[in-house]
Amino acid sequence: FHVQRFENEPNTDFSRAENREDMKQALKDVEALFGADYPLNIDGKAQDSRSHIISRSPSSKETVLGTVASANRDQAEQAIETARRAWPQWQKIPADHRAEYLELIASGMQTRRFELAAWMIHESGKSWKEADAEVSEAIDFCRYYSLAMRDLVSELACDYPGEENRLFYRSRGVAVVIAPWNFPLAILTGMTVAALVTGNTVVMKPAEQSSIVAAKLMEIARDSGLPTGVLNFLPGNGEELGPVLVGSPDVDLVVFTGSQEVGLSINKLAAETVPAQLNVKKVIAEMGGKNAIIVDDDADLDDAVQGVVNSAFGYAGQKCSACSRVIVLKSIFDEFTERLVNAVESLVIGPADDPGIDFGPVIDQEAYDRINDYIELGAEECETIVSIDLSDRDDGYFIGPQIFNILEEDSRLAQAEIFGPVLSVMKARDMDHALKLANNTAYALTGGVYSRSPKNLKRAREEFLVGNLYLNREITGAIVQRHPFGGFRMSGIGSKAGGPDYLQQFMLPVNITENT
Ligand code: NAP
Repeated sequence: FHVQRFENEPNTDFSRAENREDMKQALKDVEALFGADYPLNIDGKAQDSRSHIISRSPSSKETVLGTVASANRDQAEQAIETARRAWPQWQKIPADHRAEYLELIASGMQTRRFELAAWMIHESGKSWKEADAEVSEAIDFCRYYSLAMRDLVSELACDYPGEENRLFYRSRGVAVVIAPWNFPLAILTGMTVAALVTGNTVVMKPAEQSSIVAAKLMEIARDSGLPTGVLNFLPGNGEELGPVLVGSPDVDLVVFTGSQEVGLSINKLAAETVPAQLNVKKVIAEMGGKNAIIVDDDADLDDAVQGVVNSAFGYAGQKCSACSRVIVLKSIFDEFTERLVNAVESLVIGPADDPGIDFGPVIDQEAYDRINDYIELGAEECETIVSIDLSDRDDGYFIGPQIFNILEEDSRLAQAEIFGPVLSVMKARDMDHALKLANNTAYALTGGVYSRSPKNLKRAREEFLVGNLYLNREITGAIVQRHPFGGFRMSGIGSKAGGPDYLQQFMLPVNITENT
C-alpha cells in the first residue's frame, strides 16, 4: 500500500523568528513584482493574447497583482496540437527519467517555497499557515508520484507453463488538466505531474482567479528542463476554452477538479465521440462536498469544538473538504452550541498577509455575492445562531462566520455546497438519526465523528458514506500518502489523489502473452 522511501515535506515552523522574517521578506519581494504580465506558453514559446485576466488581491480589491494572457480558442487548439506532436517522443522516455523531472520540480518549489506561499497569500487570500502547507503538499505530490511511477515500471509477471504473461502500462496520450482556484498550487501541480510522469503530454488550464500562482508553477516546470511542447500553459476562461479542450477528438484524458456542475458537464461532453476519434476519453473528476461532522453525546467537547471550527472556517470554508454541517446529539446540543459560538466569536478575520488572522477574505466578488445570498436565505429558512457582519470592511471580500440552526433537513442551506464561512448545525435524536442526516446529501467527500464510543465509531466506519472519514479529529488537511484524498457519489469519479492507485488511471493497462 505504501510507496517506500517517501517522506512528507515538513511545513515551516513560524514560531521561529527567522522563518517569520523570511515570510515577511517574501511578501515584500513579491509585492515589488506586482503589475507584471504573464504570457501563455505553447510549444515552449511565450505567447500573448488579445484579452487578459487581471489578477487582484481578494484582501485588497484595488491592488492589481498582475495581468495574465487569456487564451482564445485558436490558441487552445494550438496547445492540443503541440501536445499531440510532443507525445510520441515523451512517452518513449523511460519512466524513471520522467520521474526525475518531478524531483526537479519539487526542488524548484522547495527553493522558492516562501515566494510561492507569498503569491498564494496575495492572490488566493490564504493565511500564512495554509499557504505554506500548500507548498508542502505540492512538493509531496511531485515526490510521491515520482516514486510511485518508479514502482509501476516493473512489469507484472503471471507465467504459466508454456506461456509468458506480462502486464504493463502505456500512457494514454494528450491530457487536459483543468484546475480550481482554492488549492492553486497543490491541485494544479498534482494533476499535472501525475499526467506527465505517466507519459502523457499536457495542456494545463488553471482557474482564472489563481492564474499568477499557476504561471509560477509553469516557470518552475520550465526550469526543470522538460522537453518543449510536453507541458503547455493555457490560462483563460473555462466556459470559452472548456468546450474546445474537452470536446477535441485529439484529447485522450481530461483531469478536472472543481465544482459538481462543471465536472458533470465535462463528463457529458467528453463522452461524445466523432467518427475519426481513436479513444473514448477518460475523465478523472474531483468535485464538491457537503461535508458533515457528527458530535456524539460522549464526545470530548473541547476537541470537537476546535475540530469543527478549524474544519468549517479554515480558509473561510473554501475547501472541498470543509465542514458545512455539524450534527449534534440532542442531549449535548445546547452545551456544544454555546461553546461553538464562543469559539467562533473570537476568530480574527482580516487581510491574508497579516500573520495574526484565523482566516482571510473569500476569493472574489462572485463568491462574495453568492455566499451573502445563502446567508440571506439562512436568515429566512433557519434560526440564526451566529452572524458576524463585516460588510463595512469593503477593502476586501470579507465575510464573518455564520452559523445557522437547520430546521428542515432538505432545505437549500442543508443541501447546497456554499463554499464560504457558513456552518449549519443540526440536532439528531440518536446515532441512527445522526448517520441518516449525515448521508442525506448527494455528495460523499469528507466526514467526521467525535465520539468515545467504540460501537458508534465502528458504525460510522461502516455506514458513513464518504471518501475520507476522520474520527476524533478535524476533517480538512489531507496529507499525501497518509490520507489519499477523494470522494464518490456526486463528489467525484476516479481514485484518490496522493494514493496508491492514482497514477494507474492516467495509463492504459496492456497484457502480452507469448507462447514459449
Ligand atoms: P469551477 O467553477 O468548477 O472551476 C474549476 C475549473 O473549471 C476552472 O479552471 C474553470 O475555469 C473551469 N471551467 C469553468 N467552466 C468550464 C467548462 N464549461 N468547461 C471546462 N472547464 C470549465 O470550480 P472552482 O470555483 O474553481 O473551485 C471550487 C470547487 O472545486 C468547489 O466545488 C470545490 O468543492 C471543488 N473542489 C474539489 C476538490 C476535490 O478534491 N474533490 C478539491 C478542490 C476543490 P474558470 O476559472 O475560467 O472559471
